Amino acid sequence: MTIKDSENMHFESIAIRGGYRRTQENEHSEALFLTSSYIFENCDIAAKYFNNELQGNVYSRYSNPTVRTFEERLAALEGADRAVATSSGMAATLSVVMGLLSAGDHIICSREVFGSTITLMDNTISKFGVEVSYVALTDINDWEKAIKPHTKMLFCESPSNPLNEVADLEALAALARQANCLLVVDNCFCTPALQRPLEWGADIVVHSATKYIDGQGRCLGGAVVGSDELMAPVIGFLRSAGPTMSAFNAWVFLKGLETLSLRMRAHSASALQLALWLEKKDQVVKVNYSGLKKHSGHALACKQQDDFGGVLSFQVRGGRDAAWRFIDATQMLSLTANLGDSKTTIVHPASTTHSRLTSDQRSAAGITENLIRVAVGLENIKDIKRDLEFGFGVI
Ligand SMILES: *Cc1c(COP(=O)(O)O)cnc(C)c1O
Repeated sequence: MTIKDSENMHFESIAIRGGYRRTQENEHSEALFLTSSYIFENCDIAAKYFNNELQGNVYSRYSNPTVRTFEERLAALEGADRAVATSSGMAATLSVVMGLLSAGDHIICSREVFGSTITLMDNTISKFGVEVSYVALTDINDWEKAIKPHTKMLFCESPSNPLNEVADLEALAALARQANCLLVVDNCFCTPALQRPLEWGADIVVHSATKYIDGQGRCLGGAVVGSDELMAPVIGFLRSAGPTMSAFNAWVFLKGLETLSLRMRAHSASALQLALWLEKKDQVVKVNYSGLKKHSGHALACKQQDDFGGVLSFQVRGGRDAAWRFIDATQMLSLTANLGDSKTTIVHPASTTHSRLTSDQRSAAGITENLIRVAVGLENIKDIKRDLEFGFGVI
């Protein structure tokens, strides 16, 4: 089954069958190619591979059939020419910047991105002469004002973590075109099952496959998705620098893609039920979930997403003490900063995922001391509510 065959298939079918070329063994499930290199029949053929007269597998830092299947399937799901797999989500973001920007360029990034993305921008990318500015995700005027003559890239994550703010991707894409720069969207929270940013005009999508694409908390990985032209320098960086995806992880992610649609719908359905339930609790001050009609991002989420995803956050009455007691009283939920797992996770963002921000930055970003984030898993919703009741019992 090649990518061409998948052109007439729907999302769920591509997620299961896209991009695969069966070997001579007629295996039904995708083969896992655990090999670092590939042999040449003779010296003449070897020489032709090395001077690009022949194309094919040479070494697994350049290409691997299992990784390639994952890349082709993901590209088809995002509606792109090409996806390139990376060793983690952070390696995906690094590869985009290293592949497409140079010293003297300027990147505008939404303030509400993943914590390590900010660390990467501030500590590493800026060290190589790329200037970074931060703006408010949902304020298009803020983005526009930040544009400089040397701006080459707009980078955002939508919906945001943990407040579920939603960027207007179409407006950002228009701004990027007008300023002759690229719009890059971290699509980790929605995955292509719920949102395909290229359809709204984005140029590049980055993923942490570690989250929902795996979906069961096993492997680290990432991907960069876009046109052949934009991916060429990204692939060039990856092949020489080496943060490529392992074949084993690609095989796990292929299995993840097969159930992605079903899982994203189940995560979203439970998250909405939970958000509505939390809203009715006396001890809850506010629930942040874009599936709620009163959420500031609701209309945009309805427009550009197929559902609202599995992550929500809520403020409890009291401060850090109440939030910590609440979390520590839960029994089934996993206290971990990860998300996109079949197991529901709970975390206190102010003291963990967002602890590197100053308290002023945190309050500007709405990460209050009484805020709790839940990434809703696939357990029975009754058990998730029952576990949260232990928390409500102690505040
Ligand atoms: C986890 C995460 C990343 C980083 O991915 P890794 O696989 O951990 O490197 C990037 N963006 C978002 C939104 C994430 O949640």
